Amino acid sequence: MVIEKNFLDENHIQFEQTVKLCPGLKFVPVVYLGTRDDNGVGSLLQFNSFRIVKDNESLLDAVNEQLMPSVRIRFWGVRGSTPCANFENIEYGGNTSCMEIDAPGMDELLIFDSGTGIRNLGNHLERLDKMNNRGRIFITHPHWDHIQGFPFFKPFYSSKNKFSIHLPEQYRGGAQEILSGHLTKTFFPVTLDMLDATIEYVTQKEEREDYGHYSIEYFVANHSTKTAIYKIRIGGRVIVYAPDNELPLNTTPIRFVEKFQEFIKDADVLIHDAQYTLQQYKEREGWGHSAWERVIEVVKPTGVKNLYLTHHDPDTNDEVLRRRDSRLKQYEGAPFDKVSLTREGAEIRIPVKRSETIMSGNRAKVS
Ligand SMILES: [Zn+2]
Ligand SMILES: [Zn+2]
Repeated sequence: MVIEKNFLDENHIQFEQTVKLCPGLKFVPVVYLGTRDDNGVGSLLQFNSFRIVKDNESLLDAVNEQLMPSVRIRFWGVRGSTPCANFENIEYGGNTSCMEIDAPGMDELLIFDSGTGIRNLGNHLERLDKMNNRGRIFITHPHWDHIQGFPFFKPFYSSKNKFSIHLPEQYRGGAQEILSGHLTKTFFPVTLDMLDATIEYVTQKEEREDYGHYSIEYFVANHSTKTAIYKIRIGGRVIVYAPDNELPLNTTPIRFVEKFQEFIKDADVLIHDAQYTLQQYKEREGWGHSAWERVIEVVKPTGVKNLYLTHHDPDTNDEVLRRRDSRLKQYEGAPFDKVSLTREGAEIRIPVKRSETIMSGNRAKVS
């Protein structure tokens, strides 16, 4: 089961008064009444032995978390190629790739890609007044739409924060070389050495790496530079993130399609590139992106439970995407539980598998 909501809306709920209803219960329901504060975020409370509600949770979140702890996926940017701040794109969003994953017990931020969407994530963290941010950012590849927001992520400008930046090795070097090549005075006034946070640069290997609460491995996408399709195992669930990947129509690179199907097999959630329609794809073959119809066809037999199509073309407006979204409903129930387009500001929740023990402490913490 997957639950969706719009977290950007919910963060505007603020309650001021609390009523303790059921003393003695392990979970105490509370009612907050009032208007939101300047931060636009509810500051929730702590009852004696009850858990402290996280800063960025609403009461509804807290209740849901008590009843059904979940892995949460938040989309901060779902647009492909270039940001498009057009009125006609506002519903699905104009920011480029950035996704956040959170799970019960996580004490680090887990972020994928640093497209322009990461700016809003940074501002969100700043509004929460959260100090000592620690986290990892896994960048799929260094195309502009996946790194353009990098220097606009405000937590990079506080010495209290610590981040680890992961990127697959590229033709011209590892994570640090590639990012420092992008951030030179010719292109932007900020260079890597001007960031105040403690930052470690990691050239990510394909092999599975264990980070305590989760593990990451990747499969090399069919794209114009070395690009990761990340597989994340977290809370007993498997999430695959593939924002840039061309699924060819014919069987020439047949082994690629087969290997890809093997990699995504039985995933709980797949977030996949679907920049084009089949008709558009035929004119853009070899550009490194997929047609949504082809994605459905390739993913159907793999046992993937929930499919989210992303990396929307900047020239595809909300009206077209809305129509596409409703066409996708025919695939719900079978073969997928859920199939839908991603939207900026949307959150997906997947209940943690009950058998899963959330490990405490991270073996590979950012230090
Ligand atoms: Zn891209
Ligand atoms: Zn790309």
